[in-house]
Amino acid sequence: MDTIAAPLLSLLRVGMRYPNGNLALQNLSFEVGTREFVSVLGPSGCGKSTALRLIAGLERPATGTLAWPAQGHAPELGFVFQESTLMPWTTVAHNVFLPLRLQGRTLASANATIAGALERVGLSHAAQAYPHELSGGMKMRASIARALVTRPRLLLMDEPFAALDEMTRLKLNDDLLAIQAEQGFAVVFVTHSVYESVYLADRVLVMGPPPGRIHGEIRIDAARPRGEAFRNSASYGEQCVAVSRALRRAVVGVGAESA
Ligand code: ADP
Repeated sequence: MDTIAAPLLSLLRVGMRYPNGNLALQNLSFEVGTREFVSVLGPSGCGKSTALRLIAGLERPATGTLAWPAQGHAPELGFVFQESTLMPWTTVAHNVFLPLRLQGRTLASANATIAGALERVGLSHAAQAYPHELSGGMKMRASIARALVTRPRLLLMDEPFAALDEMTRLKLNDDLLAIQAEQGFAVVFVTHSVYESVYLADRVLVMGPPPGRIHGEIRIDAARPRGEAFRNSASYGEQCVAVSRALRRAVVGVGAESA
């Protein structure tokens, strides 16, 4: 009997063209395991956001297949963007309530769930605050609480921490890993940062110039939980160099790393 678990998500030779003729993706193939953390790294315009939109069901592949082998159907998804996309006219708690409201829940029945989600991201004290009263890091925490309040099986993150200062970003990296370890969802995490991709991921997928496809895949060799010891280790530095080289090869072409 086959003992290898079916992946949560599988993309096979996916191609996608925008209505204006732009070929955004061609032969894009990768899998994401249940509970796996996958980083997607690549230059601007290589199709990272388009790939997330396909996974989210906002676009359809023109060619190839996108399948959910583990469940047989698309699971509950969470989405976090670089801009926190909070509704400015209402409180943090009501922002986090939105996905539950869309599921038909009443606020009274959802209050404990909302409180739990806010507590998990360290925002209990800001439940009644408005988005404009929050720092950038707090806004991102609220966005993560909103994405996780429905307990998704897969969290899609599009450069979520790119606009944050370094210390806030490192803290959010650690908190995201802790929440993922506890709740067990899979993550597809788009980033421009080699360092961030290596720190977070089980695997880093490297994309090259458009049309988007996977040019390289690096499995990150590090135990979990990860923390300062990993960040300061020679192994982390070496794996960042390896990913950096793979990115240069993808962008500039074979042999670029010797230049
Ligand atoms: P990335 O996220 O890696 O920066 P995108 O997925 O946003 O890349 O874009 C991939 C390609 O598709 C780019 O060439 C971009 O110009 C094009 N593109 C993105 N969105 C649209 C759109 N709505 N209409 C037409 N072309 C688009």
